[in-house]
Amino acid sequence: MIPYGRQSIDQQDIDAVIEVLKSDYLTQGPKVPEFEKTIQDYCNVNYAVACNSATSCLHIACLALGLGPGDLYWTSPISFVASANCALYCGAEVDFVEIDPQTYNMSVPALEAKLKEAKAKNRLPNIICPVHIAGQSCDMQAIYTLAQEYGVHVIEDASHAIGGRYQDKPIGDCRYSDITIFSFHPVKIITTGEGGVATTQNEELHHKMQMYRSHGVTKDPSKFQDKTKGSWYYEQQTLGYNYRMTDIQAALGISQFKKLDANVEKRQKIAATYSQALKDLNIQLPSLIQDAYSAYHLYIIKLKKQNHKAIFEALRNNNIGVNLHYRPIHLQPYYQNKGFKEGDFPISEEYAENAISIPMFSGLEDHNQEYVIGVLKQILSKQ
Ligand SMILES: *Cc1c(COP(=O)(O)O)cnc(C)c1O
Repeated sequence: MIPYGRQSIDQQDIDAVIEVLKSDYLTQGPKVPEFEKTIQDYCNVNYAVACNSATSCLHIACLALGLGPGDLYWTSPISFVASANCALYCGAEVDFVEIDPQTYNMSVPALEAKLKEAKAKNRLPNIICPVHIAGQSCDMQAIYTLAQEYGVHVIEDASHAIGGRYQDKPIGDCRYSDITIFSFHPVKIITTGEGGVATTQNEELHHKMQMYRSHGVTKDPSKFQDKTKGSWYYEQQTLGYNYRMTDIQAALGISQFKKLDANVEKRQKIAATYSQALKDLNIQLPSLIQDAYSAYHLYIIKLKKQNHKAIFEALRNNNIGVNLHYRPIHLQPYYQNKGFKEGDFPISEEYAENAISIPMFSGLEDHNQEYVIGVLKQILSKQ
């Protein structure tokens, strides 16, 4: 089976991990700060906090921004469930903003209309979380302008988008957000096995996220309430978690980072080949906004009138591991039990009835891509 996504691990990565295994620190050693520094430099941002997953990062980002019971959080229905669940962990309520039918990212006009309505009802969200679907940035300048106008915090879920750019600057620099989240799950652009990073320009948010990551404890003497103690001292100042990344993971991340730009360039090349080869089929190909350089975590095609289920089955029967990203979050049984229902976000629902993620990863070999293209052409010409 040719998967839709796959990690790419080389000997350097393996050596980097083995080096940590032979060292003094498997966790809480030097590799995690080194990995964080690597990301800060790459993203041109002051602070980075590495965690054991992007889900953990989303949770501590919400906590650092003060999200709690009675508060409201909005994200896109077309995302992984973690983008919404993080707010529920904080006791807040979740709602969604409709997507753009071309890019599948959060729609700016839909956001504007929803904010206007929410203000009239005196029920504005505390945080909005646009998701950079498939690796292409949302229209962050427009979203941030609206967020400022309405006094709303912004978390970018850039789980798909490390190595991507917006207005020719790296995603993760938080020019248009409070915090940006990356995921390093093996299907994403680069990997640490499990892992995630939150970036921010804000010292206070950085300090809070560091505390929430590790039991609510601080070891920074300048932050102590009791300043009389010695160097062994630490204080638990809030209720936190153990969301720490290990040094084993961080070492893999540092090594993977060296190949990030080449990885994304390869994905761009694969995308260009798909877009050229599939352009005459009666399907919607990824559409790119001018300001964005996509990291191409995914290559999503959208059918028009063809039978989604039959095409999915046919591709899988030909050993092509296609997938759907994503079934709309609001239609998950758990969210339907909260009162969401079919018809709430029709553009997202129509998208999910027609979208297919076809194989996209830096190790996809030319002959395998040609095979995927050939099968797609054959199957779609029959429909
Ligand atoms: C993968 C993903 C997450 C969760 O990432 P983990 O590192 O697996 O916790 C969150 N949001 C989006 C959009 C994702 O694709």
